[in-house]
Amino acid sequence: MLERVPLLEKDLDDYRSVVDYEVLDRIHELAEPLKGAKVLHLNATAYGGGVAELLATHVPLLRSVGIDADWRVLHGSDEFFHVTKTAHNGLQGAEVEWTPELQRVYLERVLDNALAMDDGWDFVVIHDPQPAALLSFLRETPVFSPETRWIWRCHIDLTTANARVWEFFRPFVELHDASVWTMREFVPASLVMDRVIVTPPCIDPLAVKNLDLADPFVVEICKQYGIDTKRPIMCQVSRFDPWKDPVGVIEAYRLVREEIPDVQLVLAGSMATDDPEGFKVWEEAEEARGGDRDIHLLSNIQQIGAVQINAFQRAAHVVLQKSLREGFGLTVSEALWKGRPVVGGRAGGIQLQIRDGVDGFLVDSVEEAATRTVELLSFPERADELGASGRAHVRANFLSTRELEDWLRLFHDLGSGTRP
Ligand code: UDP
Repeated sequence: MLERVPLLEKDLDDYRSVVDYEVLDRIHELAEPLKGAKVLHLNATAYGGGVAELLATHVPLLRSVGIDADWRVLHGSDEFFHVTKTAHNGLQGAEVEWTPELQRVYLERVLDNALAMDDGWDFVVIHDPQPAALLSFLRETPVFSPETRWIWRCHIDLTTANARVWEFFRPFVELHDASVWTMREFVPASLVMDRVIVTPPCIDPLAVKNLDLADPFVVEICKQYGIDTKRPIMCQVSRFDPWKDPVGVIEAYRLVREEIPDVQLVLAGSMATDDPEGFKVWEEAEEARGGDRDIHLLSNIQQIGAVQINAFQRAAHVVLQKSLREGFGLTVSEALWKGRPVVGGRAGGIQLQIRDGVDGFLVDSVEEAATRTVELLSFPERADELGASGRAHVRANFLSTRELEDWLRLFHDLGSGTRP
């Protein structure tokens, strides 16, 4: 059996404190005929990055409405994750060598995982390219059941996908009964599939990362990391990944410092287990930092967890998410939910979350990121105004309850209910 991820307990009714009763009633009603359905979510990592963050809430919420949901992760290896990161980069538009040897490593490992699958699922949701070929192998095994509905959830931006890499994955994806995307623009024109659903991810307002924190607690946590909450703070929270452009953020900070000399930068990022590039990008950021004590380069190695991220996002006067490519970028909604304005790269799902000039600013360069940051640091009332509007935008569009409702509708559509 594939490794099962331990789950938190969540109760949908606790969300009464943040969303309207009608939303919860609708969800309970949609869930009623699906009670007892067996749903499996399968992805590559239990920790680090947005997909793990989403599933940590979504799967317990499914369980709280009576669905027998489970979360499992692929059994990978350093070599496999190196190959899947190459595929990920290629699908996001990078020039990569997608050689027969890489394809062999990928397929062999997915086959191993297919052989470890158990049966009895009503719905299986496969996340991203790492397990995308699993169904093709499983169809040849005795555990395959034609009654199971298979869904491929793509979290990445395929608008400029490297054609060789996408053409490799496309036949595997097309075996699924449906695919789910963050934005319509991400869906390649070549995809042949009856059910293509667009529904963006969301954040959990009741997760430790997003709960209200009292100011003295925020100040104390920042102090422990040498961050002075009395001075201006800009902050980006991201995996150390070239697409998140941490070096660009440092360059923007340097330009900001020319105008606002006492500014500090917090760059916090975890190392995901399926992301072998993390240490290399960390070193690049460390080099760009050049020993500047006002740049706080932090990771889970210094025990940066959900509470710390929560505190940094709240303490920040401006949050950045200067991505060059982005599927969605949960960190944007996380910051907006805390009433902080966000300066975000004009990329993928960041554009869904930031209405330019309303909740923050969309930028195309280091210079623009710096100019907008200076503007927000110079006019705190305006910054608060944008932050408040961002929080309302997130409440209406990007909370876990909205996503739960969308998924229940999809399950209905695909054939509701448990097996006879
Ligand atoms: N995150 C975290 N610690 C870190 C860096 C990131 O907990 O040091 C979280 C972040 O708060 C967010 C998720 O990881 O919830 C990243 O999701 P996002 O969609 O922004 O990016 P992805 O990593 O999926 O590309």
